[in-house]
Amino acid sequence: MMDCEFCNAAGGEILWQDERCRVIRVGGREATDFPGFCRVIWKEHRREMNDLSGADRQHLMTVVFATESALRALYRPFKLNLASLGNVTPHVHWHVIPRFEDDPLFPSPIWSKQERKPGDPPIRAIVDNQTISKAIQQALAET
Ligand SMILES: [Zn+2]
Repeated sequence: MMDCEFCNAAGGEILWQDERCRVIRVGGREATDFPGFCRVIWKEHRREMNDLSGADRQHLMTVVFATESALRALYRPFKLNLASLGNVTPHVHWHVIPRFEDDPLFPSPIWSKQERKPGDPPIRAIVDNQTISKAIQQALAET
């Protein structure tokens, strides 16, 4: 895979990682529209959850749920969306997306067609990476 976006780059600012997976904070337009949007990315090429061993699968979901806990505590969203699509990269990964009733696509999935003009991100969106990183570590320590 010469052209693999998740091998070539982290995919965002790394908030937490170990030898198997990393949690990144999504940047750019997606971050503006969906504050706190993170991805948990498996580092090796595995396309499906079923391509992971049972222990690896459990580890990945432990990190996903720790990220969910951290974002839930820090953002207090209306809903947290967890999604695994992975149609364009061979790295199984989970999107962890805080959703708010005033986000540009609520209540549709974030990948749906834009129907409303996005406004400025709400003030509550400002949580720095170090704070999220610490909250993920804390949530992992509690599992
Ligand atoms: Zn790759």
